[in-house]
Amino acid sequence: MSVPLLDLSRQYAYLKNDMDKAVLNVLDHGWFILGPEVTELEKQIAELSGASHARGVASGTDALLLALFAAGVKAGDEVITTDFSFFATAGTISRLGATPVFVDIEEDSYNIDPKCIEAAITEKTKAIIPVHLFGQVADMDPILEIAKKHNLKVIEDAAQAIGAKYKGKPAGSMGDYGCFSFYPSKNLGAGGDGGIITTNTKENFDLLTILRNHGAEPKYYHKIIGFNSRLASIQAAILLVKMPHLQKWSEKRIEHAKIYDNAFADVAAITTPKVMDYSDFHIYNQYTIAVSDRDAVVAKLREAKIGSDIYYPVPFHTQECFADLGYKAEDFAVTNKAADSVLSIPIYPEMTSEEQQTVIKAVIEAVA
Ligand SMILES: *Cc1c(COP(=O)(O)O)cnc(C)c1O
Repeated sequence: MSVPLLDLSRQYAYLKNDMDKAVLNVLDHGWFILGPEVTELEKQIAELSGASHARGVASGTDALLLALFAAGVKAGDEVITTDFSFFATAGTISRLGATPVFVDIEEDSYNIDPKCIEAAITEKTKAIIPVHLFGQVADMDPILEIAKKHNLKVIEDAAQAIGAKYKGKPAGSMGDYGCFSFYPSKNLGAGGDGGIITTNTKENFDLLTILRNHGAEPKYYHKIIGFNSRLASIQAAILLVKMPHLQKWSEKRIEHAKIYDNAFADVAAITTPKVMDYSDFHIYNQYTIAVSDRDAVVAKLREAKIGSDIYYPVPFHTQECFADLGYKAEDFAVTNKAADSVLSIPIYPEMTSEEQQTVIKAVIEAVA
């Protein structure tokens, strides 16, 4: 039996009637960009994220870009973030002409290590971007405290963590901005690109509203130069069909994670992902183990037709495009170790228990 890393067709099969109807309804009414579905989704995501407001944008990458811009980040500024994330976290900082400043991660959570942040602050530092990697919220309390002390903005990269919680608080409710992605492989995935930004102040919200539409207010009058980054109504319509199922899907992922945790508990060659004390709802966008001799494990899993992938094999500080930032490998010992050993295996909610047992058997055999 082969088991894919992710199989989106099962979710569609399950929701086909409602999804088809929702999409056709948009084709019928013809309000394709920022239509009524977008407004309704913004309301529901704000509520889910415990934030006062949400604004739909074209992608998770754009959510970061607009949030950084709204936070006042510009050429010459510095933004501190983790060395270990999807490229968009760092790329958007550079896109605005600012400099990304990378710091090492916590060994147990793979998230930014708050203890490394203060040493990286200079007078050019404007903001911090913690990433809630794999669906577990970063240790926000010390990060928010440092930000307050040094008057920095906090932008949560919550692309992988919709509905996740930290000490009872939802991802996207704690920083100045929360950035989410609806990329199809995220826990709440659209039928294409999409993203959303949450915020708790009316001032930030109003700024995002005009920023996503070329900075116009009113139409044709541009006080600032913004972006074209608007959420498509068809994407919002698809997401609205999925919204009522999200909690159940996250719980299913947690169930799968517990079964893996138990199955691998006595296998010394497998390090299972840890749920931190401060995390009370880890939504497992990925279930990421660590193994030594990963190449061999990957080859054996491929042979057994078990889907797996490496998030992420190349830390930011070693990316060619950031070579001129002059980072040294020894400053990122934890990230380097993670990048060399992590491996994500199937965790999607629709995975059957038979499939999961097949994965477990194949992984244990692969590390033997
Ligand atoms: C997916 C992702 C993004 C970017 O989202 P897109 O919708 O693909 O642009 C940003 N940060 C992280 C951590 C992500 O996983």
